This record gives sequence, structure tokens and C-alpha cells, in this order.
Amino acid sequence: MSALIKTEEEIEIIRISSLLVGKTLAEVAKHIKPGVNTGELDKIAEEFIRDNDAVPGFKGYGGFPATLCTSVNDEVVHGIPGDYELIEGDIISIDCGVKKNGYFGDSAFTFTIGEVDKKTLMLLQRTRESLYKGIDAAVVGNRIGDIGYSIQSYCESFGYGVVRDLVGHGLGSNLHEKPEVPNFGRRGKGKELRAGMVLAIEPMINLGVKKVFQERDGWTIRTDDAKPSAHFEHDIVVRKGKAEILSTFDFIEEVLKNKN
Ligand code: MG
Ligand code: MG
Repeated sequence: MSALIKTEEEIEIIRISSLLVGKTLAEVAKHIKPGVNTGELDKIAEEFIRDNDAVPGFKGYGGFPATLCTSVNDEVVHGIPGDYELIEGDIISIDCGVKKNGYFGDSAFTFTIGEVDKKTLMLLQRTRESLYKGIDAAVVGNRIGDIGYSIQSYCESFGYGVVRDLVGHGLGSNLHEKPEVPNFGRRGKGKELRAGMVLAIEPMINLGVKKVFQERDGWTIRTDDAKPSAHFEHDIVVRKGKAEILSTFDFIEEVLKNKN
């Protein structure tokens, strides 16, 4: 178990892993279209990661069988890639982890396939915005609860369900480290944030109720009311005044810009 506070050297290594996740998600983004199946996307991600002298961070973790978590529509997180073919109107959360030089990166982005209905588009946009509200709260002097409060209060103002059962986490030489970073919370409560803490912040936000359940495959988490769910994740460092984001969606945005 690595320490709660990372050295600047460790942070630089985690940055390399986090950026590689962003590049991997961008590589996957190039292939997201109607008719492609999630297993094909997984293969693309694994090859890309290994070509970059890293290893998939999720494969084998707790027995998870794949490189990506691919969670479509009402699937919240931990969907297993397979023979499901994407169709127009779907959304897909793609969560990816890599390990390189002994440290992990972990980031997620929810993509749209073709035309997606307005309500779902707004859910994606606001979930992404809530991630940055959480990041804004991740500064020295605040507490874990301030991050969750920022995400929760923003998302609930639109009537969305904020998932309680799954949370963000510390990140380092282990994929999941202390502290837990819930997407809900109370101002000024929870563990104190200290400079050099590296956190994966990852709001999982439902269009309907917050309640979720686990599929019989032992992994896939779905919304209880079968309404869609969105998920965005960044790796950040707690700093004085302003958190520093280690992962990036820039490579993804570049691909999406050229696709449309
Ligand atoms: Mg993740
Ligand atoms: Mg994570």
C-alpha cells in the first residue's frame, strides 16, 4: 500500500499513466460507431496499451476479464466487453486503467453513438460538469465531503440520481487506494485533503433514481429503473488553491472533432 501523499516523482509517473489512458480512450473513440461491438473496442485498447509499454490496469483486477469497462445506456459501470453491437442512440461509458512504471492511471468518458435524445445528452453534459465541480473542491484545506457535496448538489439540482454504492478513490501503485471519494457528502466533513494526495474523482450519475443493482455476471452495475447513467473520471492531485488534473480528455476531443 503506497502512502496517502505522493512525492512529486511519483506524481510525474502517475501523470504518464493517466495521459496514456487518455490516449487509449482516444484510440478507442476512433472506432466507436454503430455496428462495432464492445469486445472489438476492448481489443483495440489492450493492443494500444501494450504497444505503449504498459499493461491494462483492470484485466485480472479482482478477476475482471477485460481491459475496458464498457457500460451501455442503463449500465452504470463495470460492464464487461463482449458481443454487444452499438446502435444509433446508445451511450457508452468507457473506463480504462493502465499500469506503467509501477503506477496506475484511471479515467473514464461517456460517448454518444449517433443521435442521442436531448435528456440523455444533458445528463452527459452535466455529469461532466459535475466532475469539474468536484475537482474545484479538491484543494488543501477542504475535506473529502466538500468534493462529494459539490458533485451531489449540482447533479441533484437537475433531479438526477447520484449513485451511492460506488465511489472514487486514491490512486498510486495500487488502482484503488485510500481515501474513498464519494460523489455525495457534506461540506466540511470527512478526511482532510492534503497537498500531494492523488485522487480519481468519478461521478456516476443517473437520469432517474440513484438505486443500482449488480447483474448476475458479478460485475455489471445497472440502474434500478433502467434509465441511462453517465460516468466521467479524472485523476487529480490535491494542491493549494487549485487541484491539478493529471488525466486529459483532450485526445478524445480531438478525435470527436474530426469525426463530426
Ligand atoms: Mg475508472
Ligand atoms: Mg476509478
